[in-house]
Amino acid sequence: MITGIEIGYASQMINPQKNCQICPRLAGFRFENIKKYPDYFNAPVPVWSAKSPKLVIVGLAPGLKGANRTGRPFTGDFAGDLLFQTLAKAGLSEGKYQSSADDGLVLNGVMIVNAVRCVPPQNKPVAAEINACRPFLLSTMAANPQAKVFLALGRIAHESFLRTIGKRLAAYPFKHGAMHEFNDGVVLFDSYHCSRYNTNTKVLTEEMFESVVFAAAEKAGILR
Ligand code: SF4
Repeated sequence: MITGIEIGYASQMINPQKNCQICPRLAGFRFENIKKYPDYFNAPVPVWSAKSPKLVIVGLAPGLKGANRTGRPFTGDFAGDLLFQTLAKAGLSEGKYQSSADDGLVLNGVMIVNAVRCVPPQNKPVAAEINACRPFLLSTMAANPQAKVFLALGRIAHESFLRTIGKRLAAYPFKHGAMHEFNDGVVLFDSYHCSRYNTNTKVLTEEMFESVVFAAAEKAGILR
């Protein structure tokens, strides 16, 4: 699935440089935010992971006042409230989530990463930015070959994952609760993104989200 050359290349770049300029629009937005919110993290948000994770949760991109503020994926906004509440119920975290990168929360068997590492305006990365950031997702996967189970939060994460492993999008359509199986035991679960919009509109309920997180954790062998 991922070649040795890619692994060698990728192992250098699990996390982008703090001043990554590959996406001019996002680098410009970051510059504006540094001036506007000097106390925020305001940089590509790095992977957050347990040691040797078995389940990788792939989100879309940092929220302006969430991960872009705190520097930890999903930390500090509504999506994180639901995600971390659900991880705790599944035994995939230890400690109390307190919306801050220094709250001492520890992940069990899980990695959390975004398909796009920099906050985009209006939470909407464009296709070129999703493509430009994909090498970092690839490098993260290549550096963690023991992680076979993936959970995509939303269609963009789903499609970026498929492109990362070289699969046709039409062959694996996004559907909440779906499980897609690939070579080498790799499995992708789909969930609607745990955003406030999706939960307010009842596109995603807590029960629906728990169901797919628990299924992914069970498949990864880390459900407690
Ligand atoms: S989104 Fe990714 S590739 Fe684009 S500037 Fe940020 S870190 Fe670099």
